[in-house]
Amino acid sequence: MHLVPLPALTDNYIWLLHDDEGQAVVVDPGDAAVVEQALDRRQWRLRGVLLTHHHNDHIGGAAALRQHHGVPVYGPLDPRIDCLTHVVGDGDRVTLTAPELTFEVLSIPGHTRTHIGYVGAGLVLCGDTLFSLGCGRLFEGTPAQMLDSLDRLAALPGSTRVCAGHEYTQANGLFANEVEPNNPTLQQRRREVARLRADGQASLPVTLAAEQATNPFLRVDTDAVIDWCARRGVDGDRVARFAALRAAKDVFRA
Ligand code: ZN
Ligand code: FE
Repeated sequence: MHLVPLPALTDNYIWLLHDDEGQAVVVDPGDAAVVEQALDRRQWRLRGVLLTHHHNDHIGGAAALRQHHGVPVYGPLDPRIDCLTHVVGDGDRVTLTAPELTFEVLSIPGHTRTHIGYVGAGLVLCGDTLFSLGCGRLFEGTPAQMLDSLDRLAALPGSTRVCAGHEYTQANGLFANEVEPNNPTLQQRRREVARLRADGQASLPVTLAAEQATNPFLRVDTDAVIDWCARRGVDGDRVARFAALRAAKDVFRA
C-alpha cells in the first residue's frame, strides 16, 4: 500500500492510500479539486472516502467526490456531516476490498465531540486530534476527554505512522521547545522538520514512538513537563498538566 499526503487549502493534508493497481481511498478531503487532480494525473481510481470530524477543511470535498465517483463515504454520527453512506463509531471496522484495507475505528473526542480516528495498515489517521509535536484545540471537548483520546492513540504500537490533518509541525516545535529546551530528540526532530519543509516535503507521517519522545502533549507524565508545570504553579494531576499545556499553547506566540 502506498501513502501520499496531498497538500490542500492552507495547511491541510488529504491522505491518499492506493494499491499497485491504482485503487485509492482518501481521508478528510477538504477540497475535491485537489483529489481530482491527483487522480487524473496518476490515473488512480477513487474507491472510498473516510472522514474524521465535521470541520469543513476536512469534509468540504466529500459530497462532490461521492457524487462524481459513486463511492462509499465513512464517518462519525454527527448531524453536521450530511454526506455519509456509512456511519461508523468506536470499535467498528471499515473493510475495503479495493484497495484491500481494514481499519478499526477509534472514538477520540476533544477537538470535536464526535471526532474519530482510523487505525490500520500500520497507520493512524487521526485528523485534528494528534499533530506532530502538538495536538488539536479543544473546540468542543474537555482536557480530560482529549487526554483520554491521546492516551488511546499513544497505546498503539510505537511503529504506527501518524497521519495528521495539518502541517503544523514547525510552529508546534517552537512551543515544544519552550517546554523542553533540553530534550535532544526534540532538537533533532526540529532540525529534521526544518530540512524537510525547506525542501518542500511533508513532515508527516511520523512514528508514534518519535512523537512519544518529543510531543509535550504525550509527555504529561515526564519530569520535564511536571517541572514546567511546577514553575507555573500547576501542581495538579496529569489532566491539570495537560490542561495547562493546552492553555499555554493556545496563547503562545513565538
Ligand atoms: Zn478540525
Ligand atoms: Fe482541521
